Amino acid sequence: MVVLDGKKVSNDIKDEIAVAVEKMTGNGDAIPHLAAVIVGEDGASLTYVGSKVRACQRVGFDSTLIQLPSDISEQALLQTIDELNHNDAIDGFIVQLPLPKHIDTQKILLAVDPKKDVDGFHPENFGKLALDMETFIPATPFGIMELIRRYDIETSGKHVVVIGRSHIVGRPISILMSRKGYPGDSTVTLTHSRTQNLSDITKTADIIISALGIPEFLTPDMVKDGVVVIDVGITRVPSEDHPKGYVIRGDVAYEALLGKASYMTPVPGGVGPMTIAMLLQNTLLARQRRNAV
Ligand code: NAD
Repeated sequence: MVVLDGKKVSNDIKDEIAVAVEKMTGNGDAIPHLAAVIVGEDGASLTYVGSKVRACQRVGFDSTLIQLPSDISEQALLQTIDELNHNDAIDGFIVQLPLPKHIDTQKILLAVDPKKDVDGFHPENFGKLALDMETFIPATPFGIMELIRRYDIETSGKHVVVIGRSHIVGRPISILMSRKGYPGDSTVTLTHSRTQNLSDITKTADIIISALGIPEFLTPDMVKDGVVVIDVGITRVPSEDHPKGYVIRGDVAYEALLGKASYMTPVPGGVGPMTIAMLLQNTLLARQRRNAV
């Protein structure tokens, strides 16, 4: 069984980005600048945003963190986004989700300039993804594709079963794996909470990409020998043994699947670090596309 080491691959990608930034500096070009907007004090969101900002520092990007109170009005948040859209120093920005309930998330994501939408959540970018056009691929599916590419996993003609149909992982990765080219050219089945007889479907999968958020959901009786397993799930499971009071678990019963899978991502250390690396990659792309015009 080969461990798909997202930590190592993401570090390789960050090293490559750092080299690109050094080159840009040497040429007198502006270096990439990522901004992150966070609303409220949610612990997990603050942790994610913190890692994104630290990752920017690691590769030599400029970064700006904009922290807003949880009771900010939708109008004021839209104003902040408008300022970021028009701020020439910012190449790309993200609005950390989830947003408080009184704010319409779709309205906020629609307000982001698609050219600065390094999360790839704007409908214009999502549509381009489906049409094989130049876009920003959302960081998590982009990270999965890159992991598959760097481990040279065969995807052409393979049956890929995606579990979960979210707009940020399941839906886009199902489209990407069905596109022409590599990684892609797969026959894709997108499954979700209303899918019947899920294990009959997963048992026929050559590659399973699980993004549902139920710890250790995928068990050995649900897969065939030699399956490739990509575990996107991240769930905090309460644990008194751990100083933080919780442990992180994926969607996959990792230990139990060791004897059956041919390749598998660990959690943590699999898809999670790849997501951050690909956000940086998208920010670099945003800068390079601006340089090109
Ligand atoms: P979500 O939480 O929005 O939705 C869950 C999906 O799972 C839904 O589409 C639902 O239909 C499906 N589902 C629920 N129960 C099911 C069942 N019994 N059988 C089949 N499908 C079922 O999805 P999300 O935002 O993609 O998050 C999924 C998981 O991935 C979460 O644990 C999240 O924390 C994690 N995540 C990780 C990263 C990363 O960087 N590694 C990024 C995003 C999300």
